[in-house]
Amino acid sequence: MINQALLPPLSRYTLALLFALSFNATHALPKVSAVPGGVVVIELAADNAEETPAAYYHKKPLLVIKKDGRWLAVVGIPLTATVGAQQIKQQSASGKIIVHSFNIKDKAYKTQGLTVTNKRKVNPYAEDMNRIISEKKRTKKTLAHWQGRELKDLTFIAPVKGRHSSSFGLRRVFNGQPRKPHSGMDIAAPTGTPIVTPMAGTVTNVGDYFFNGNSVFIDHGQGLITMYLHLDRIDVQEGDILQQGDLLGTVGATGRVTGPHLHWGISLNDARVDPALFLSDEK
Ligand SMILES: [Zn+2]
Repeated sequence: MINQALLPPLSRYTLALLFALSFNATHALPKVSAVPGGVVVIELAADNAEETPAAYYHKKPLLVIKKDGRWLAVVGIPLTATVGAQQIKQQSASGKIIVHSFNIKDKAYKTQGLTVTNKRKVNPYAEDMNRIISEKKRTKKTLAHWQGRELKDLTFIAPVKGRHSSSFGLRRVFNGQPRKPHSGMDIAAPTGTPIVTPMAGTVTNVGDYFFNGNSVFIDHGQGLITMYLHLDRIDVQEGDILQQGDLLGTVGATGRVTGPHLHWGISLNDARVDPALFLSDEK
């Protein structure tokens, strides 16, 4: 630590300026990880400096951000992506298609066995199926939603301070039965711990879900959507516009859980990606 009080005023100013520059350079974009469940950043051709270029990955529109005068596509890679050569397609203003190629490496996610005492949450009853199917449809629609909005910074703060009890991508086995890989980050915290909005956005889905319990979805624009599951209390409504740091609810143990925690998920171009990539290292 530098004791700023001991420095002459000019040095103090220089320090602040350096800090601001390094903050922009390090934190405006997520960390790049070219693996299933990761994020890649691809520079687009700038054939029109004024208009945001459009780009697509598997026909899904991509988040595009302007940084230091360059247009960058921030691409979410689904956990189901095939390792090897991949491409995104940029549609230029003249209608021409420009192909940008990149490579995805393999990542060996570990297996995690969990015991859920409420067996119905692992093997639902026949009468639960209609509810589960309609909730799946509703979630799918929320995550595929596109809201054109200019984004300048993709910096997130942690929604809850706490131990990361289960990381993204783990292959999950509930009561001895394999289920889908873990599509978010679990943060263990006592029931009632406040959850804050990590980045400004609009609440687009609020509900009590069979597996996910009390849930909140926030749409940040351009296909960047975050979700907060298993809440004890929900403090927002659909349509609410939230700023970074706003309270959205509290940690709970609703839905399919082994104990109180927040499941925090990030979806980018409809791919569930690792939230740790969006957090700065200092917590
Ligand atoms: Zn989880």
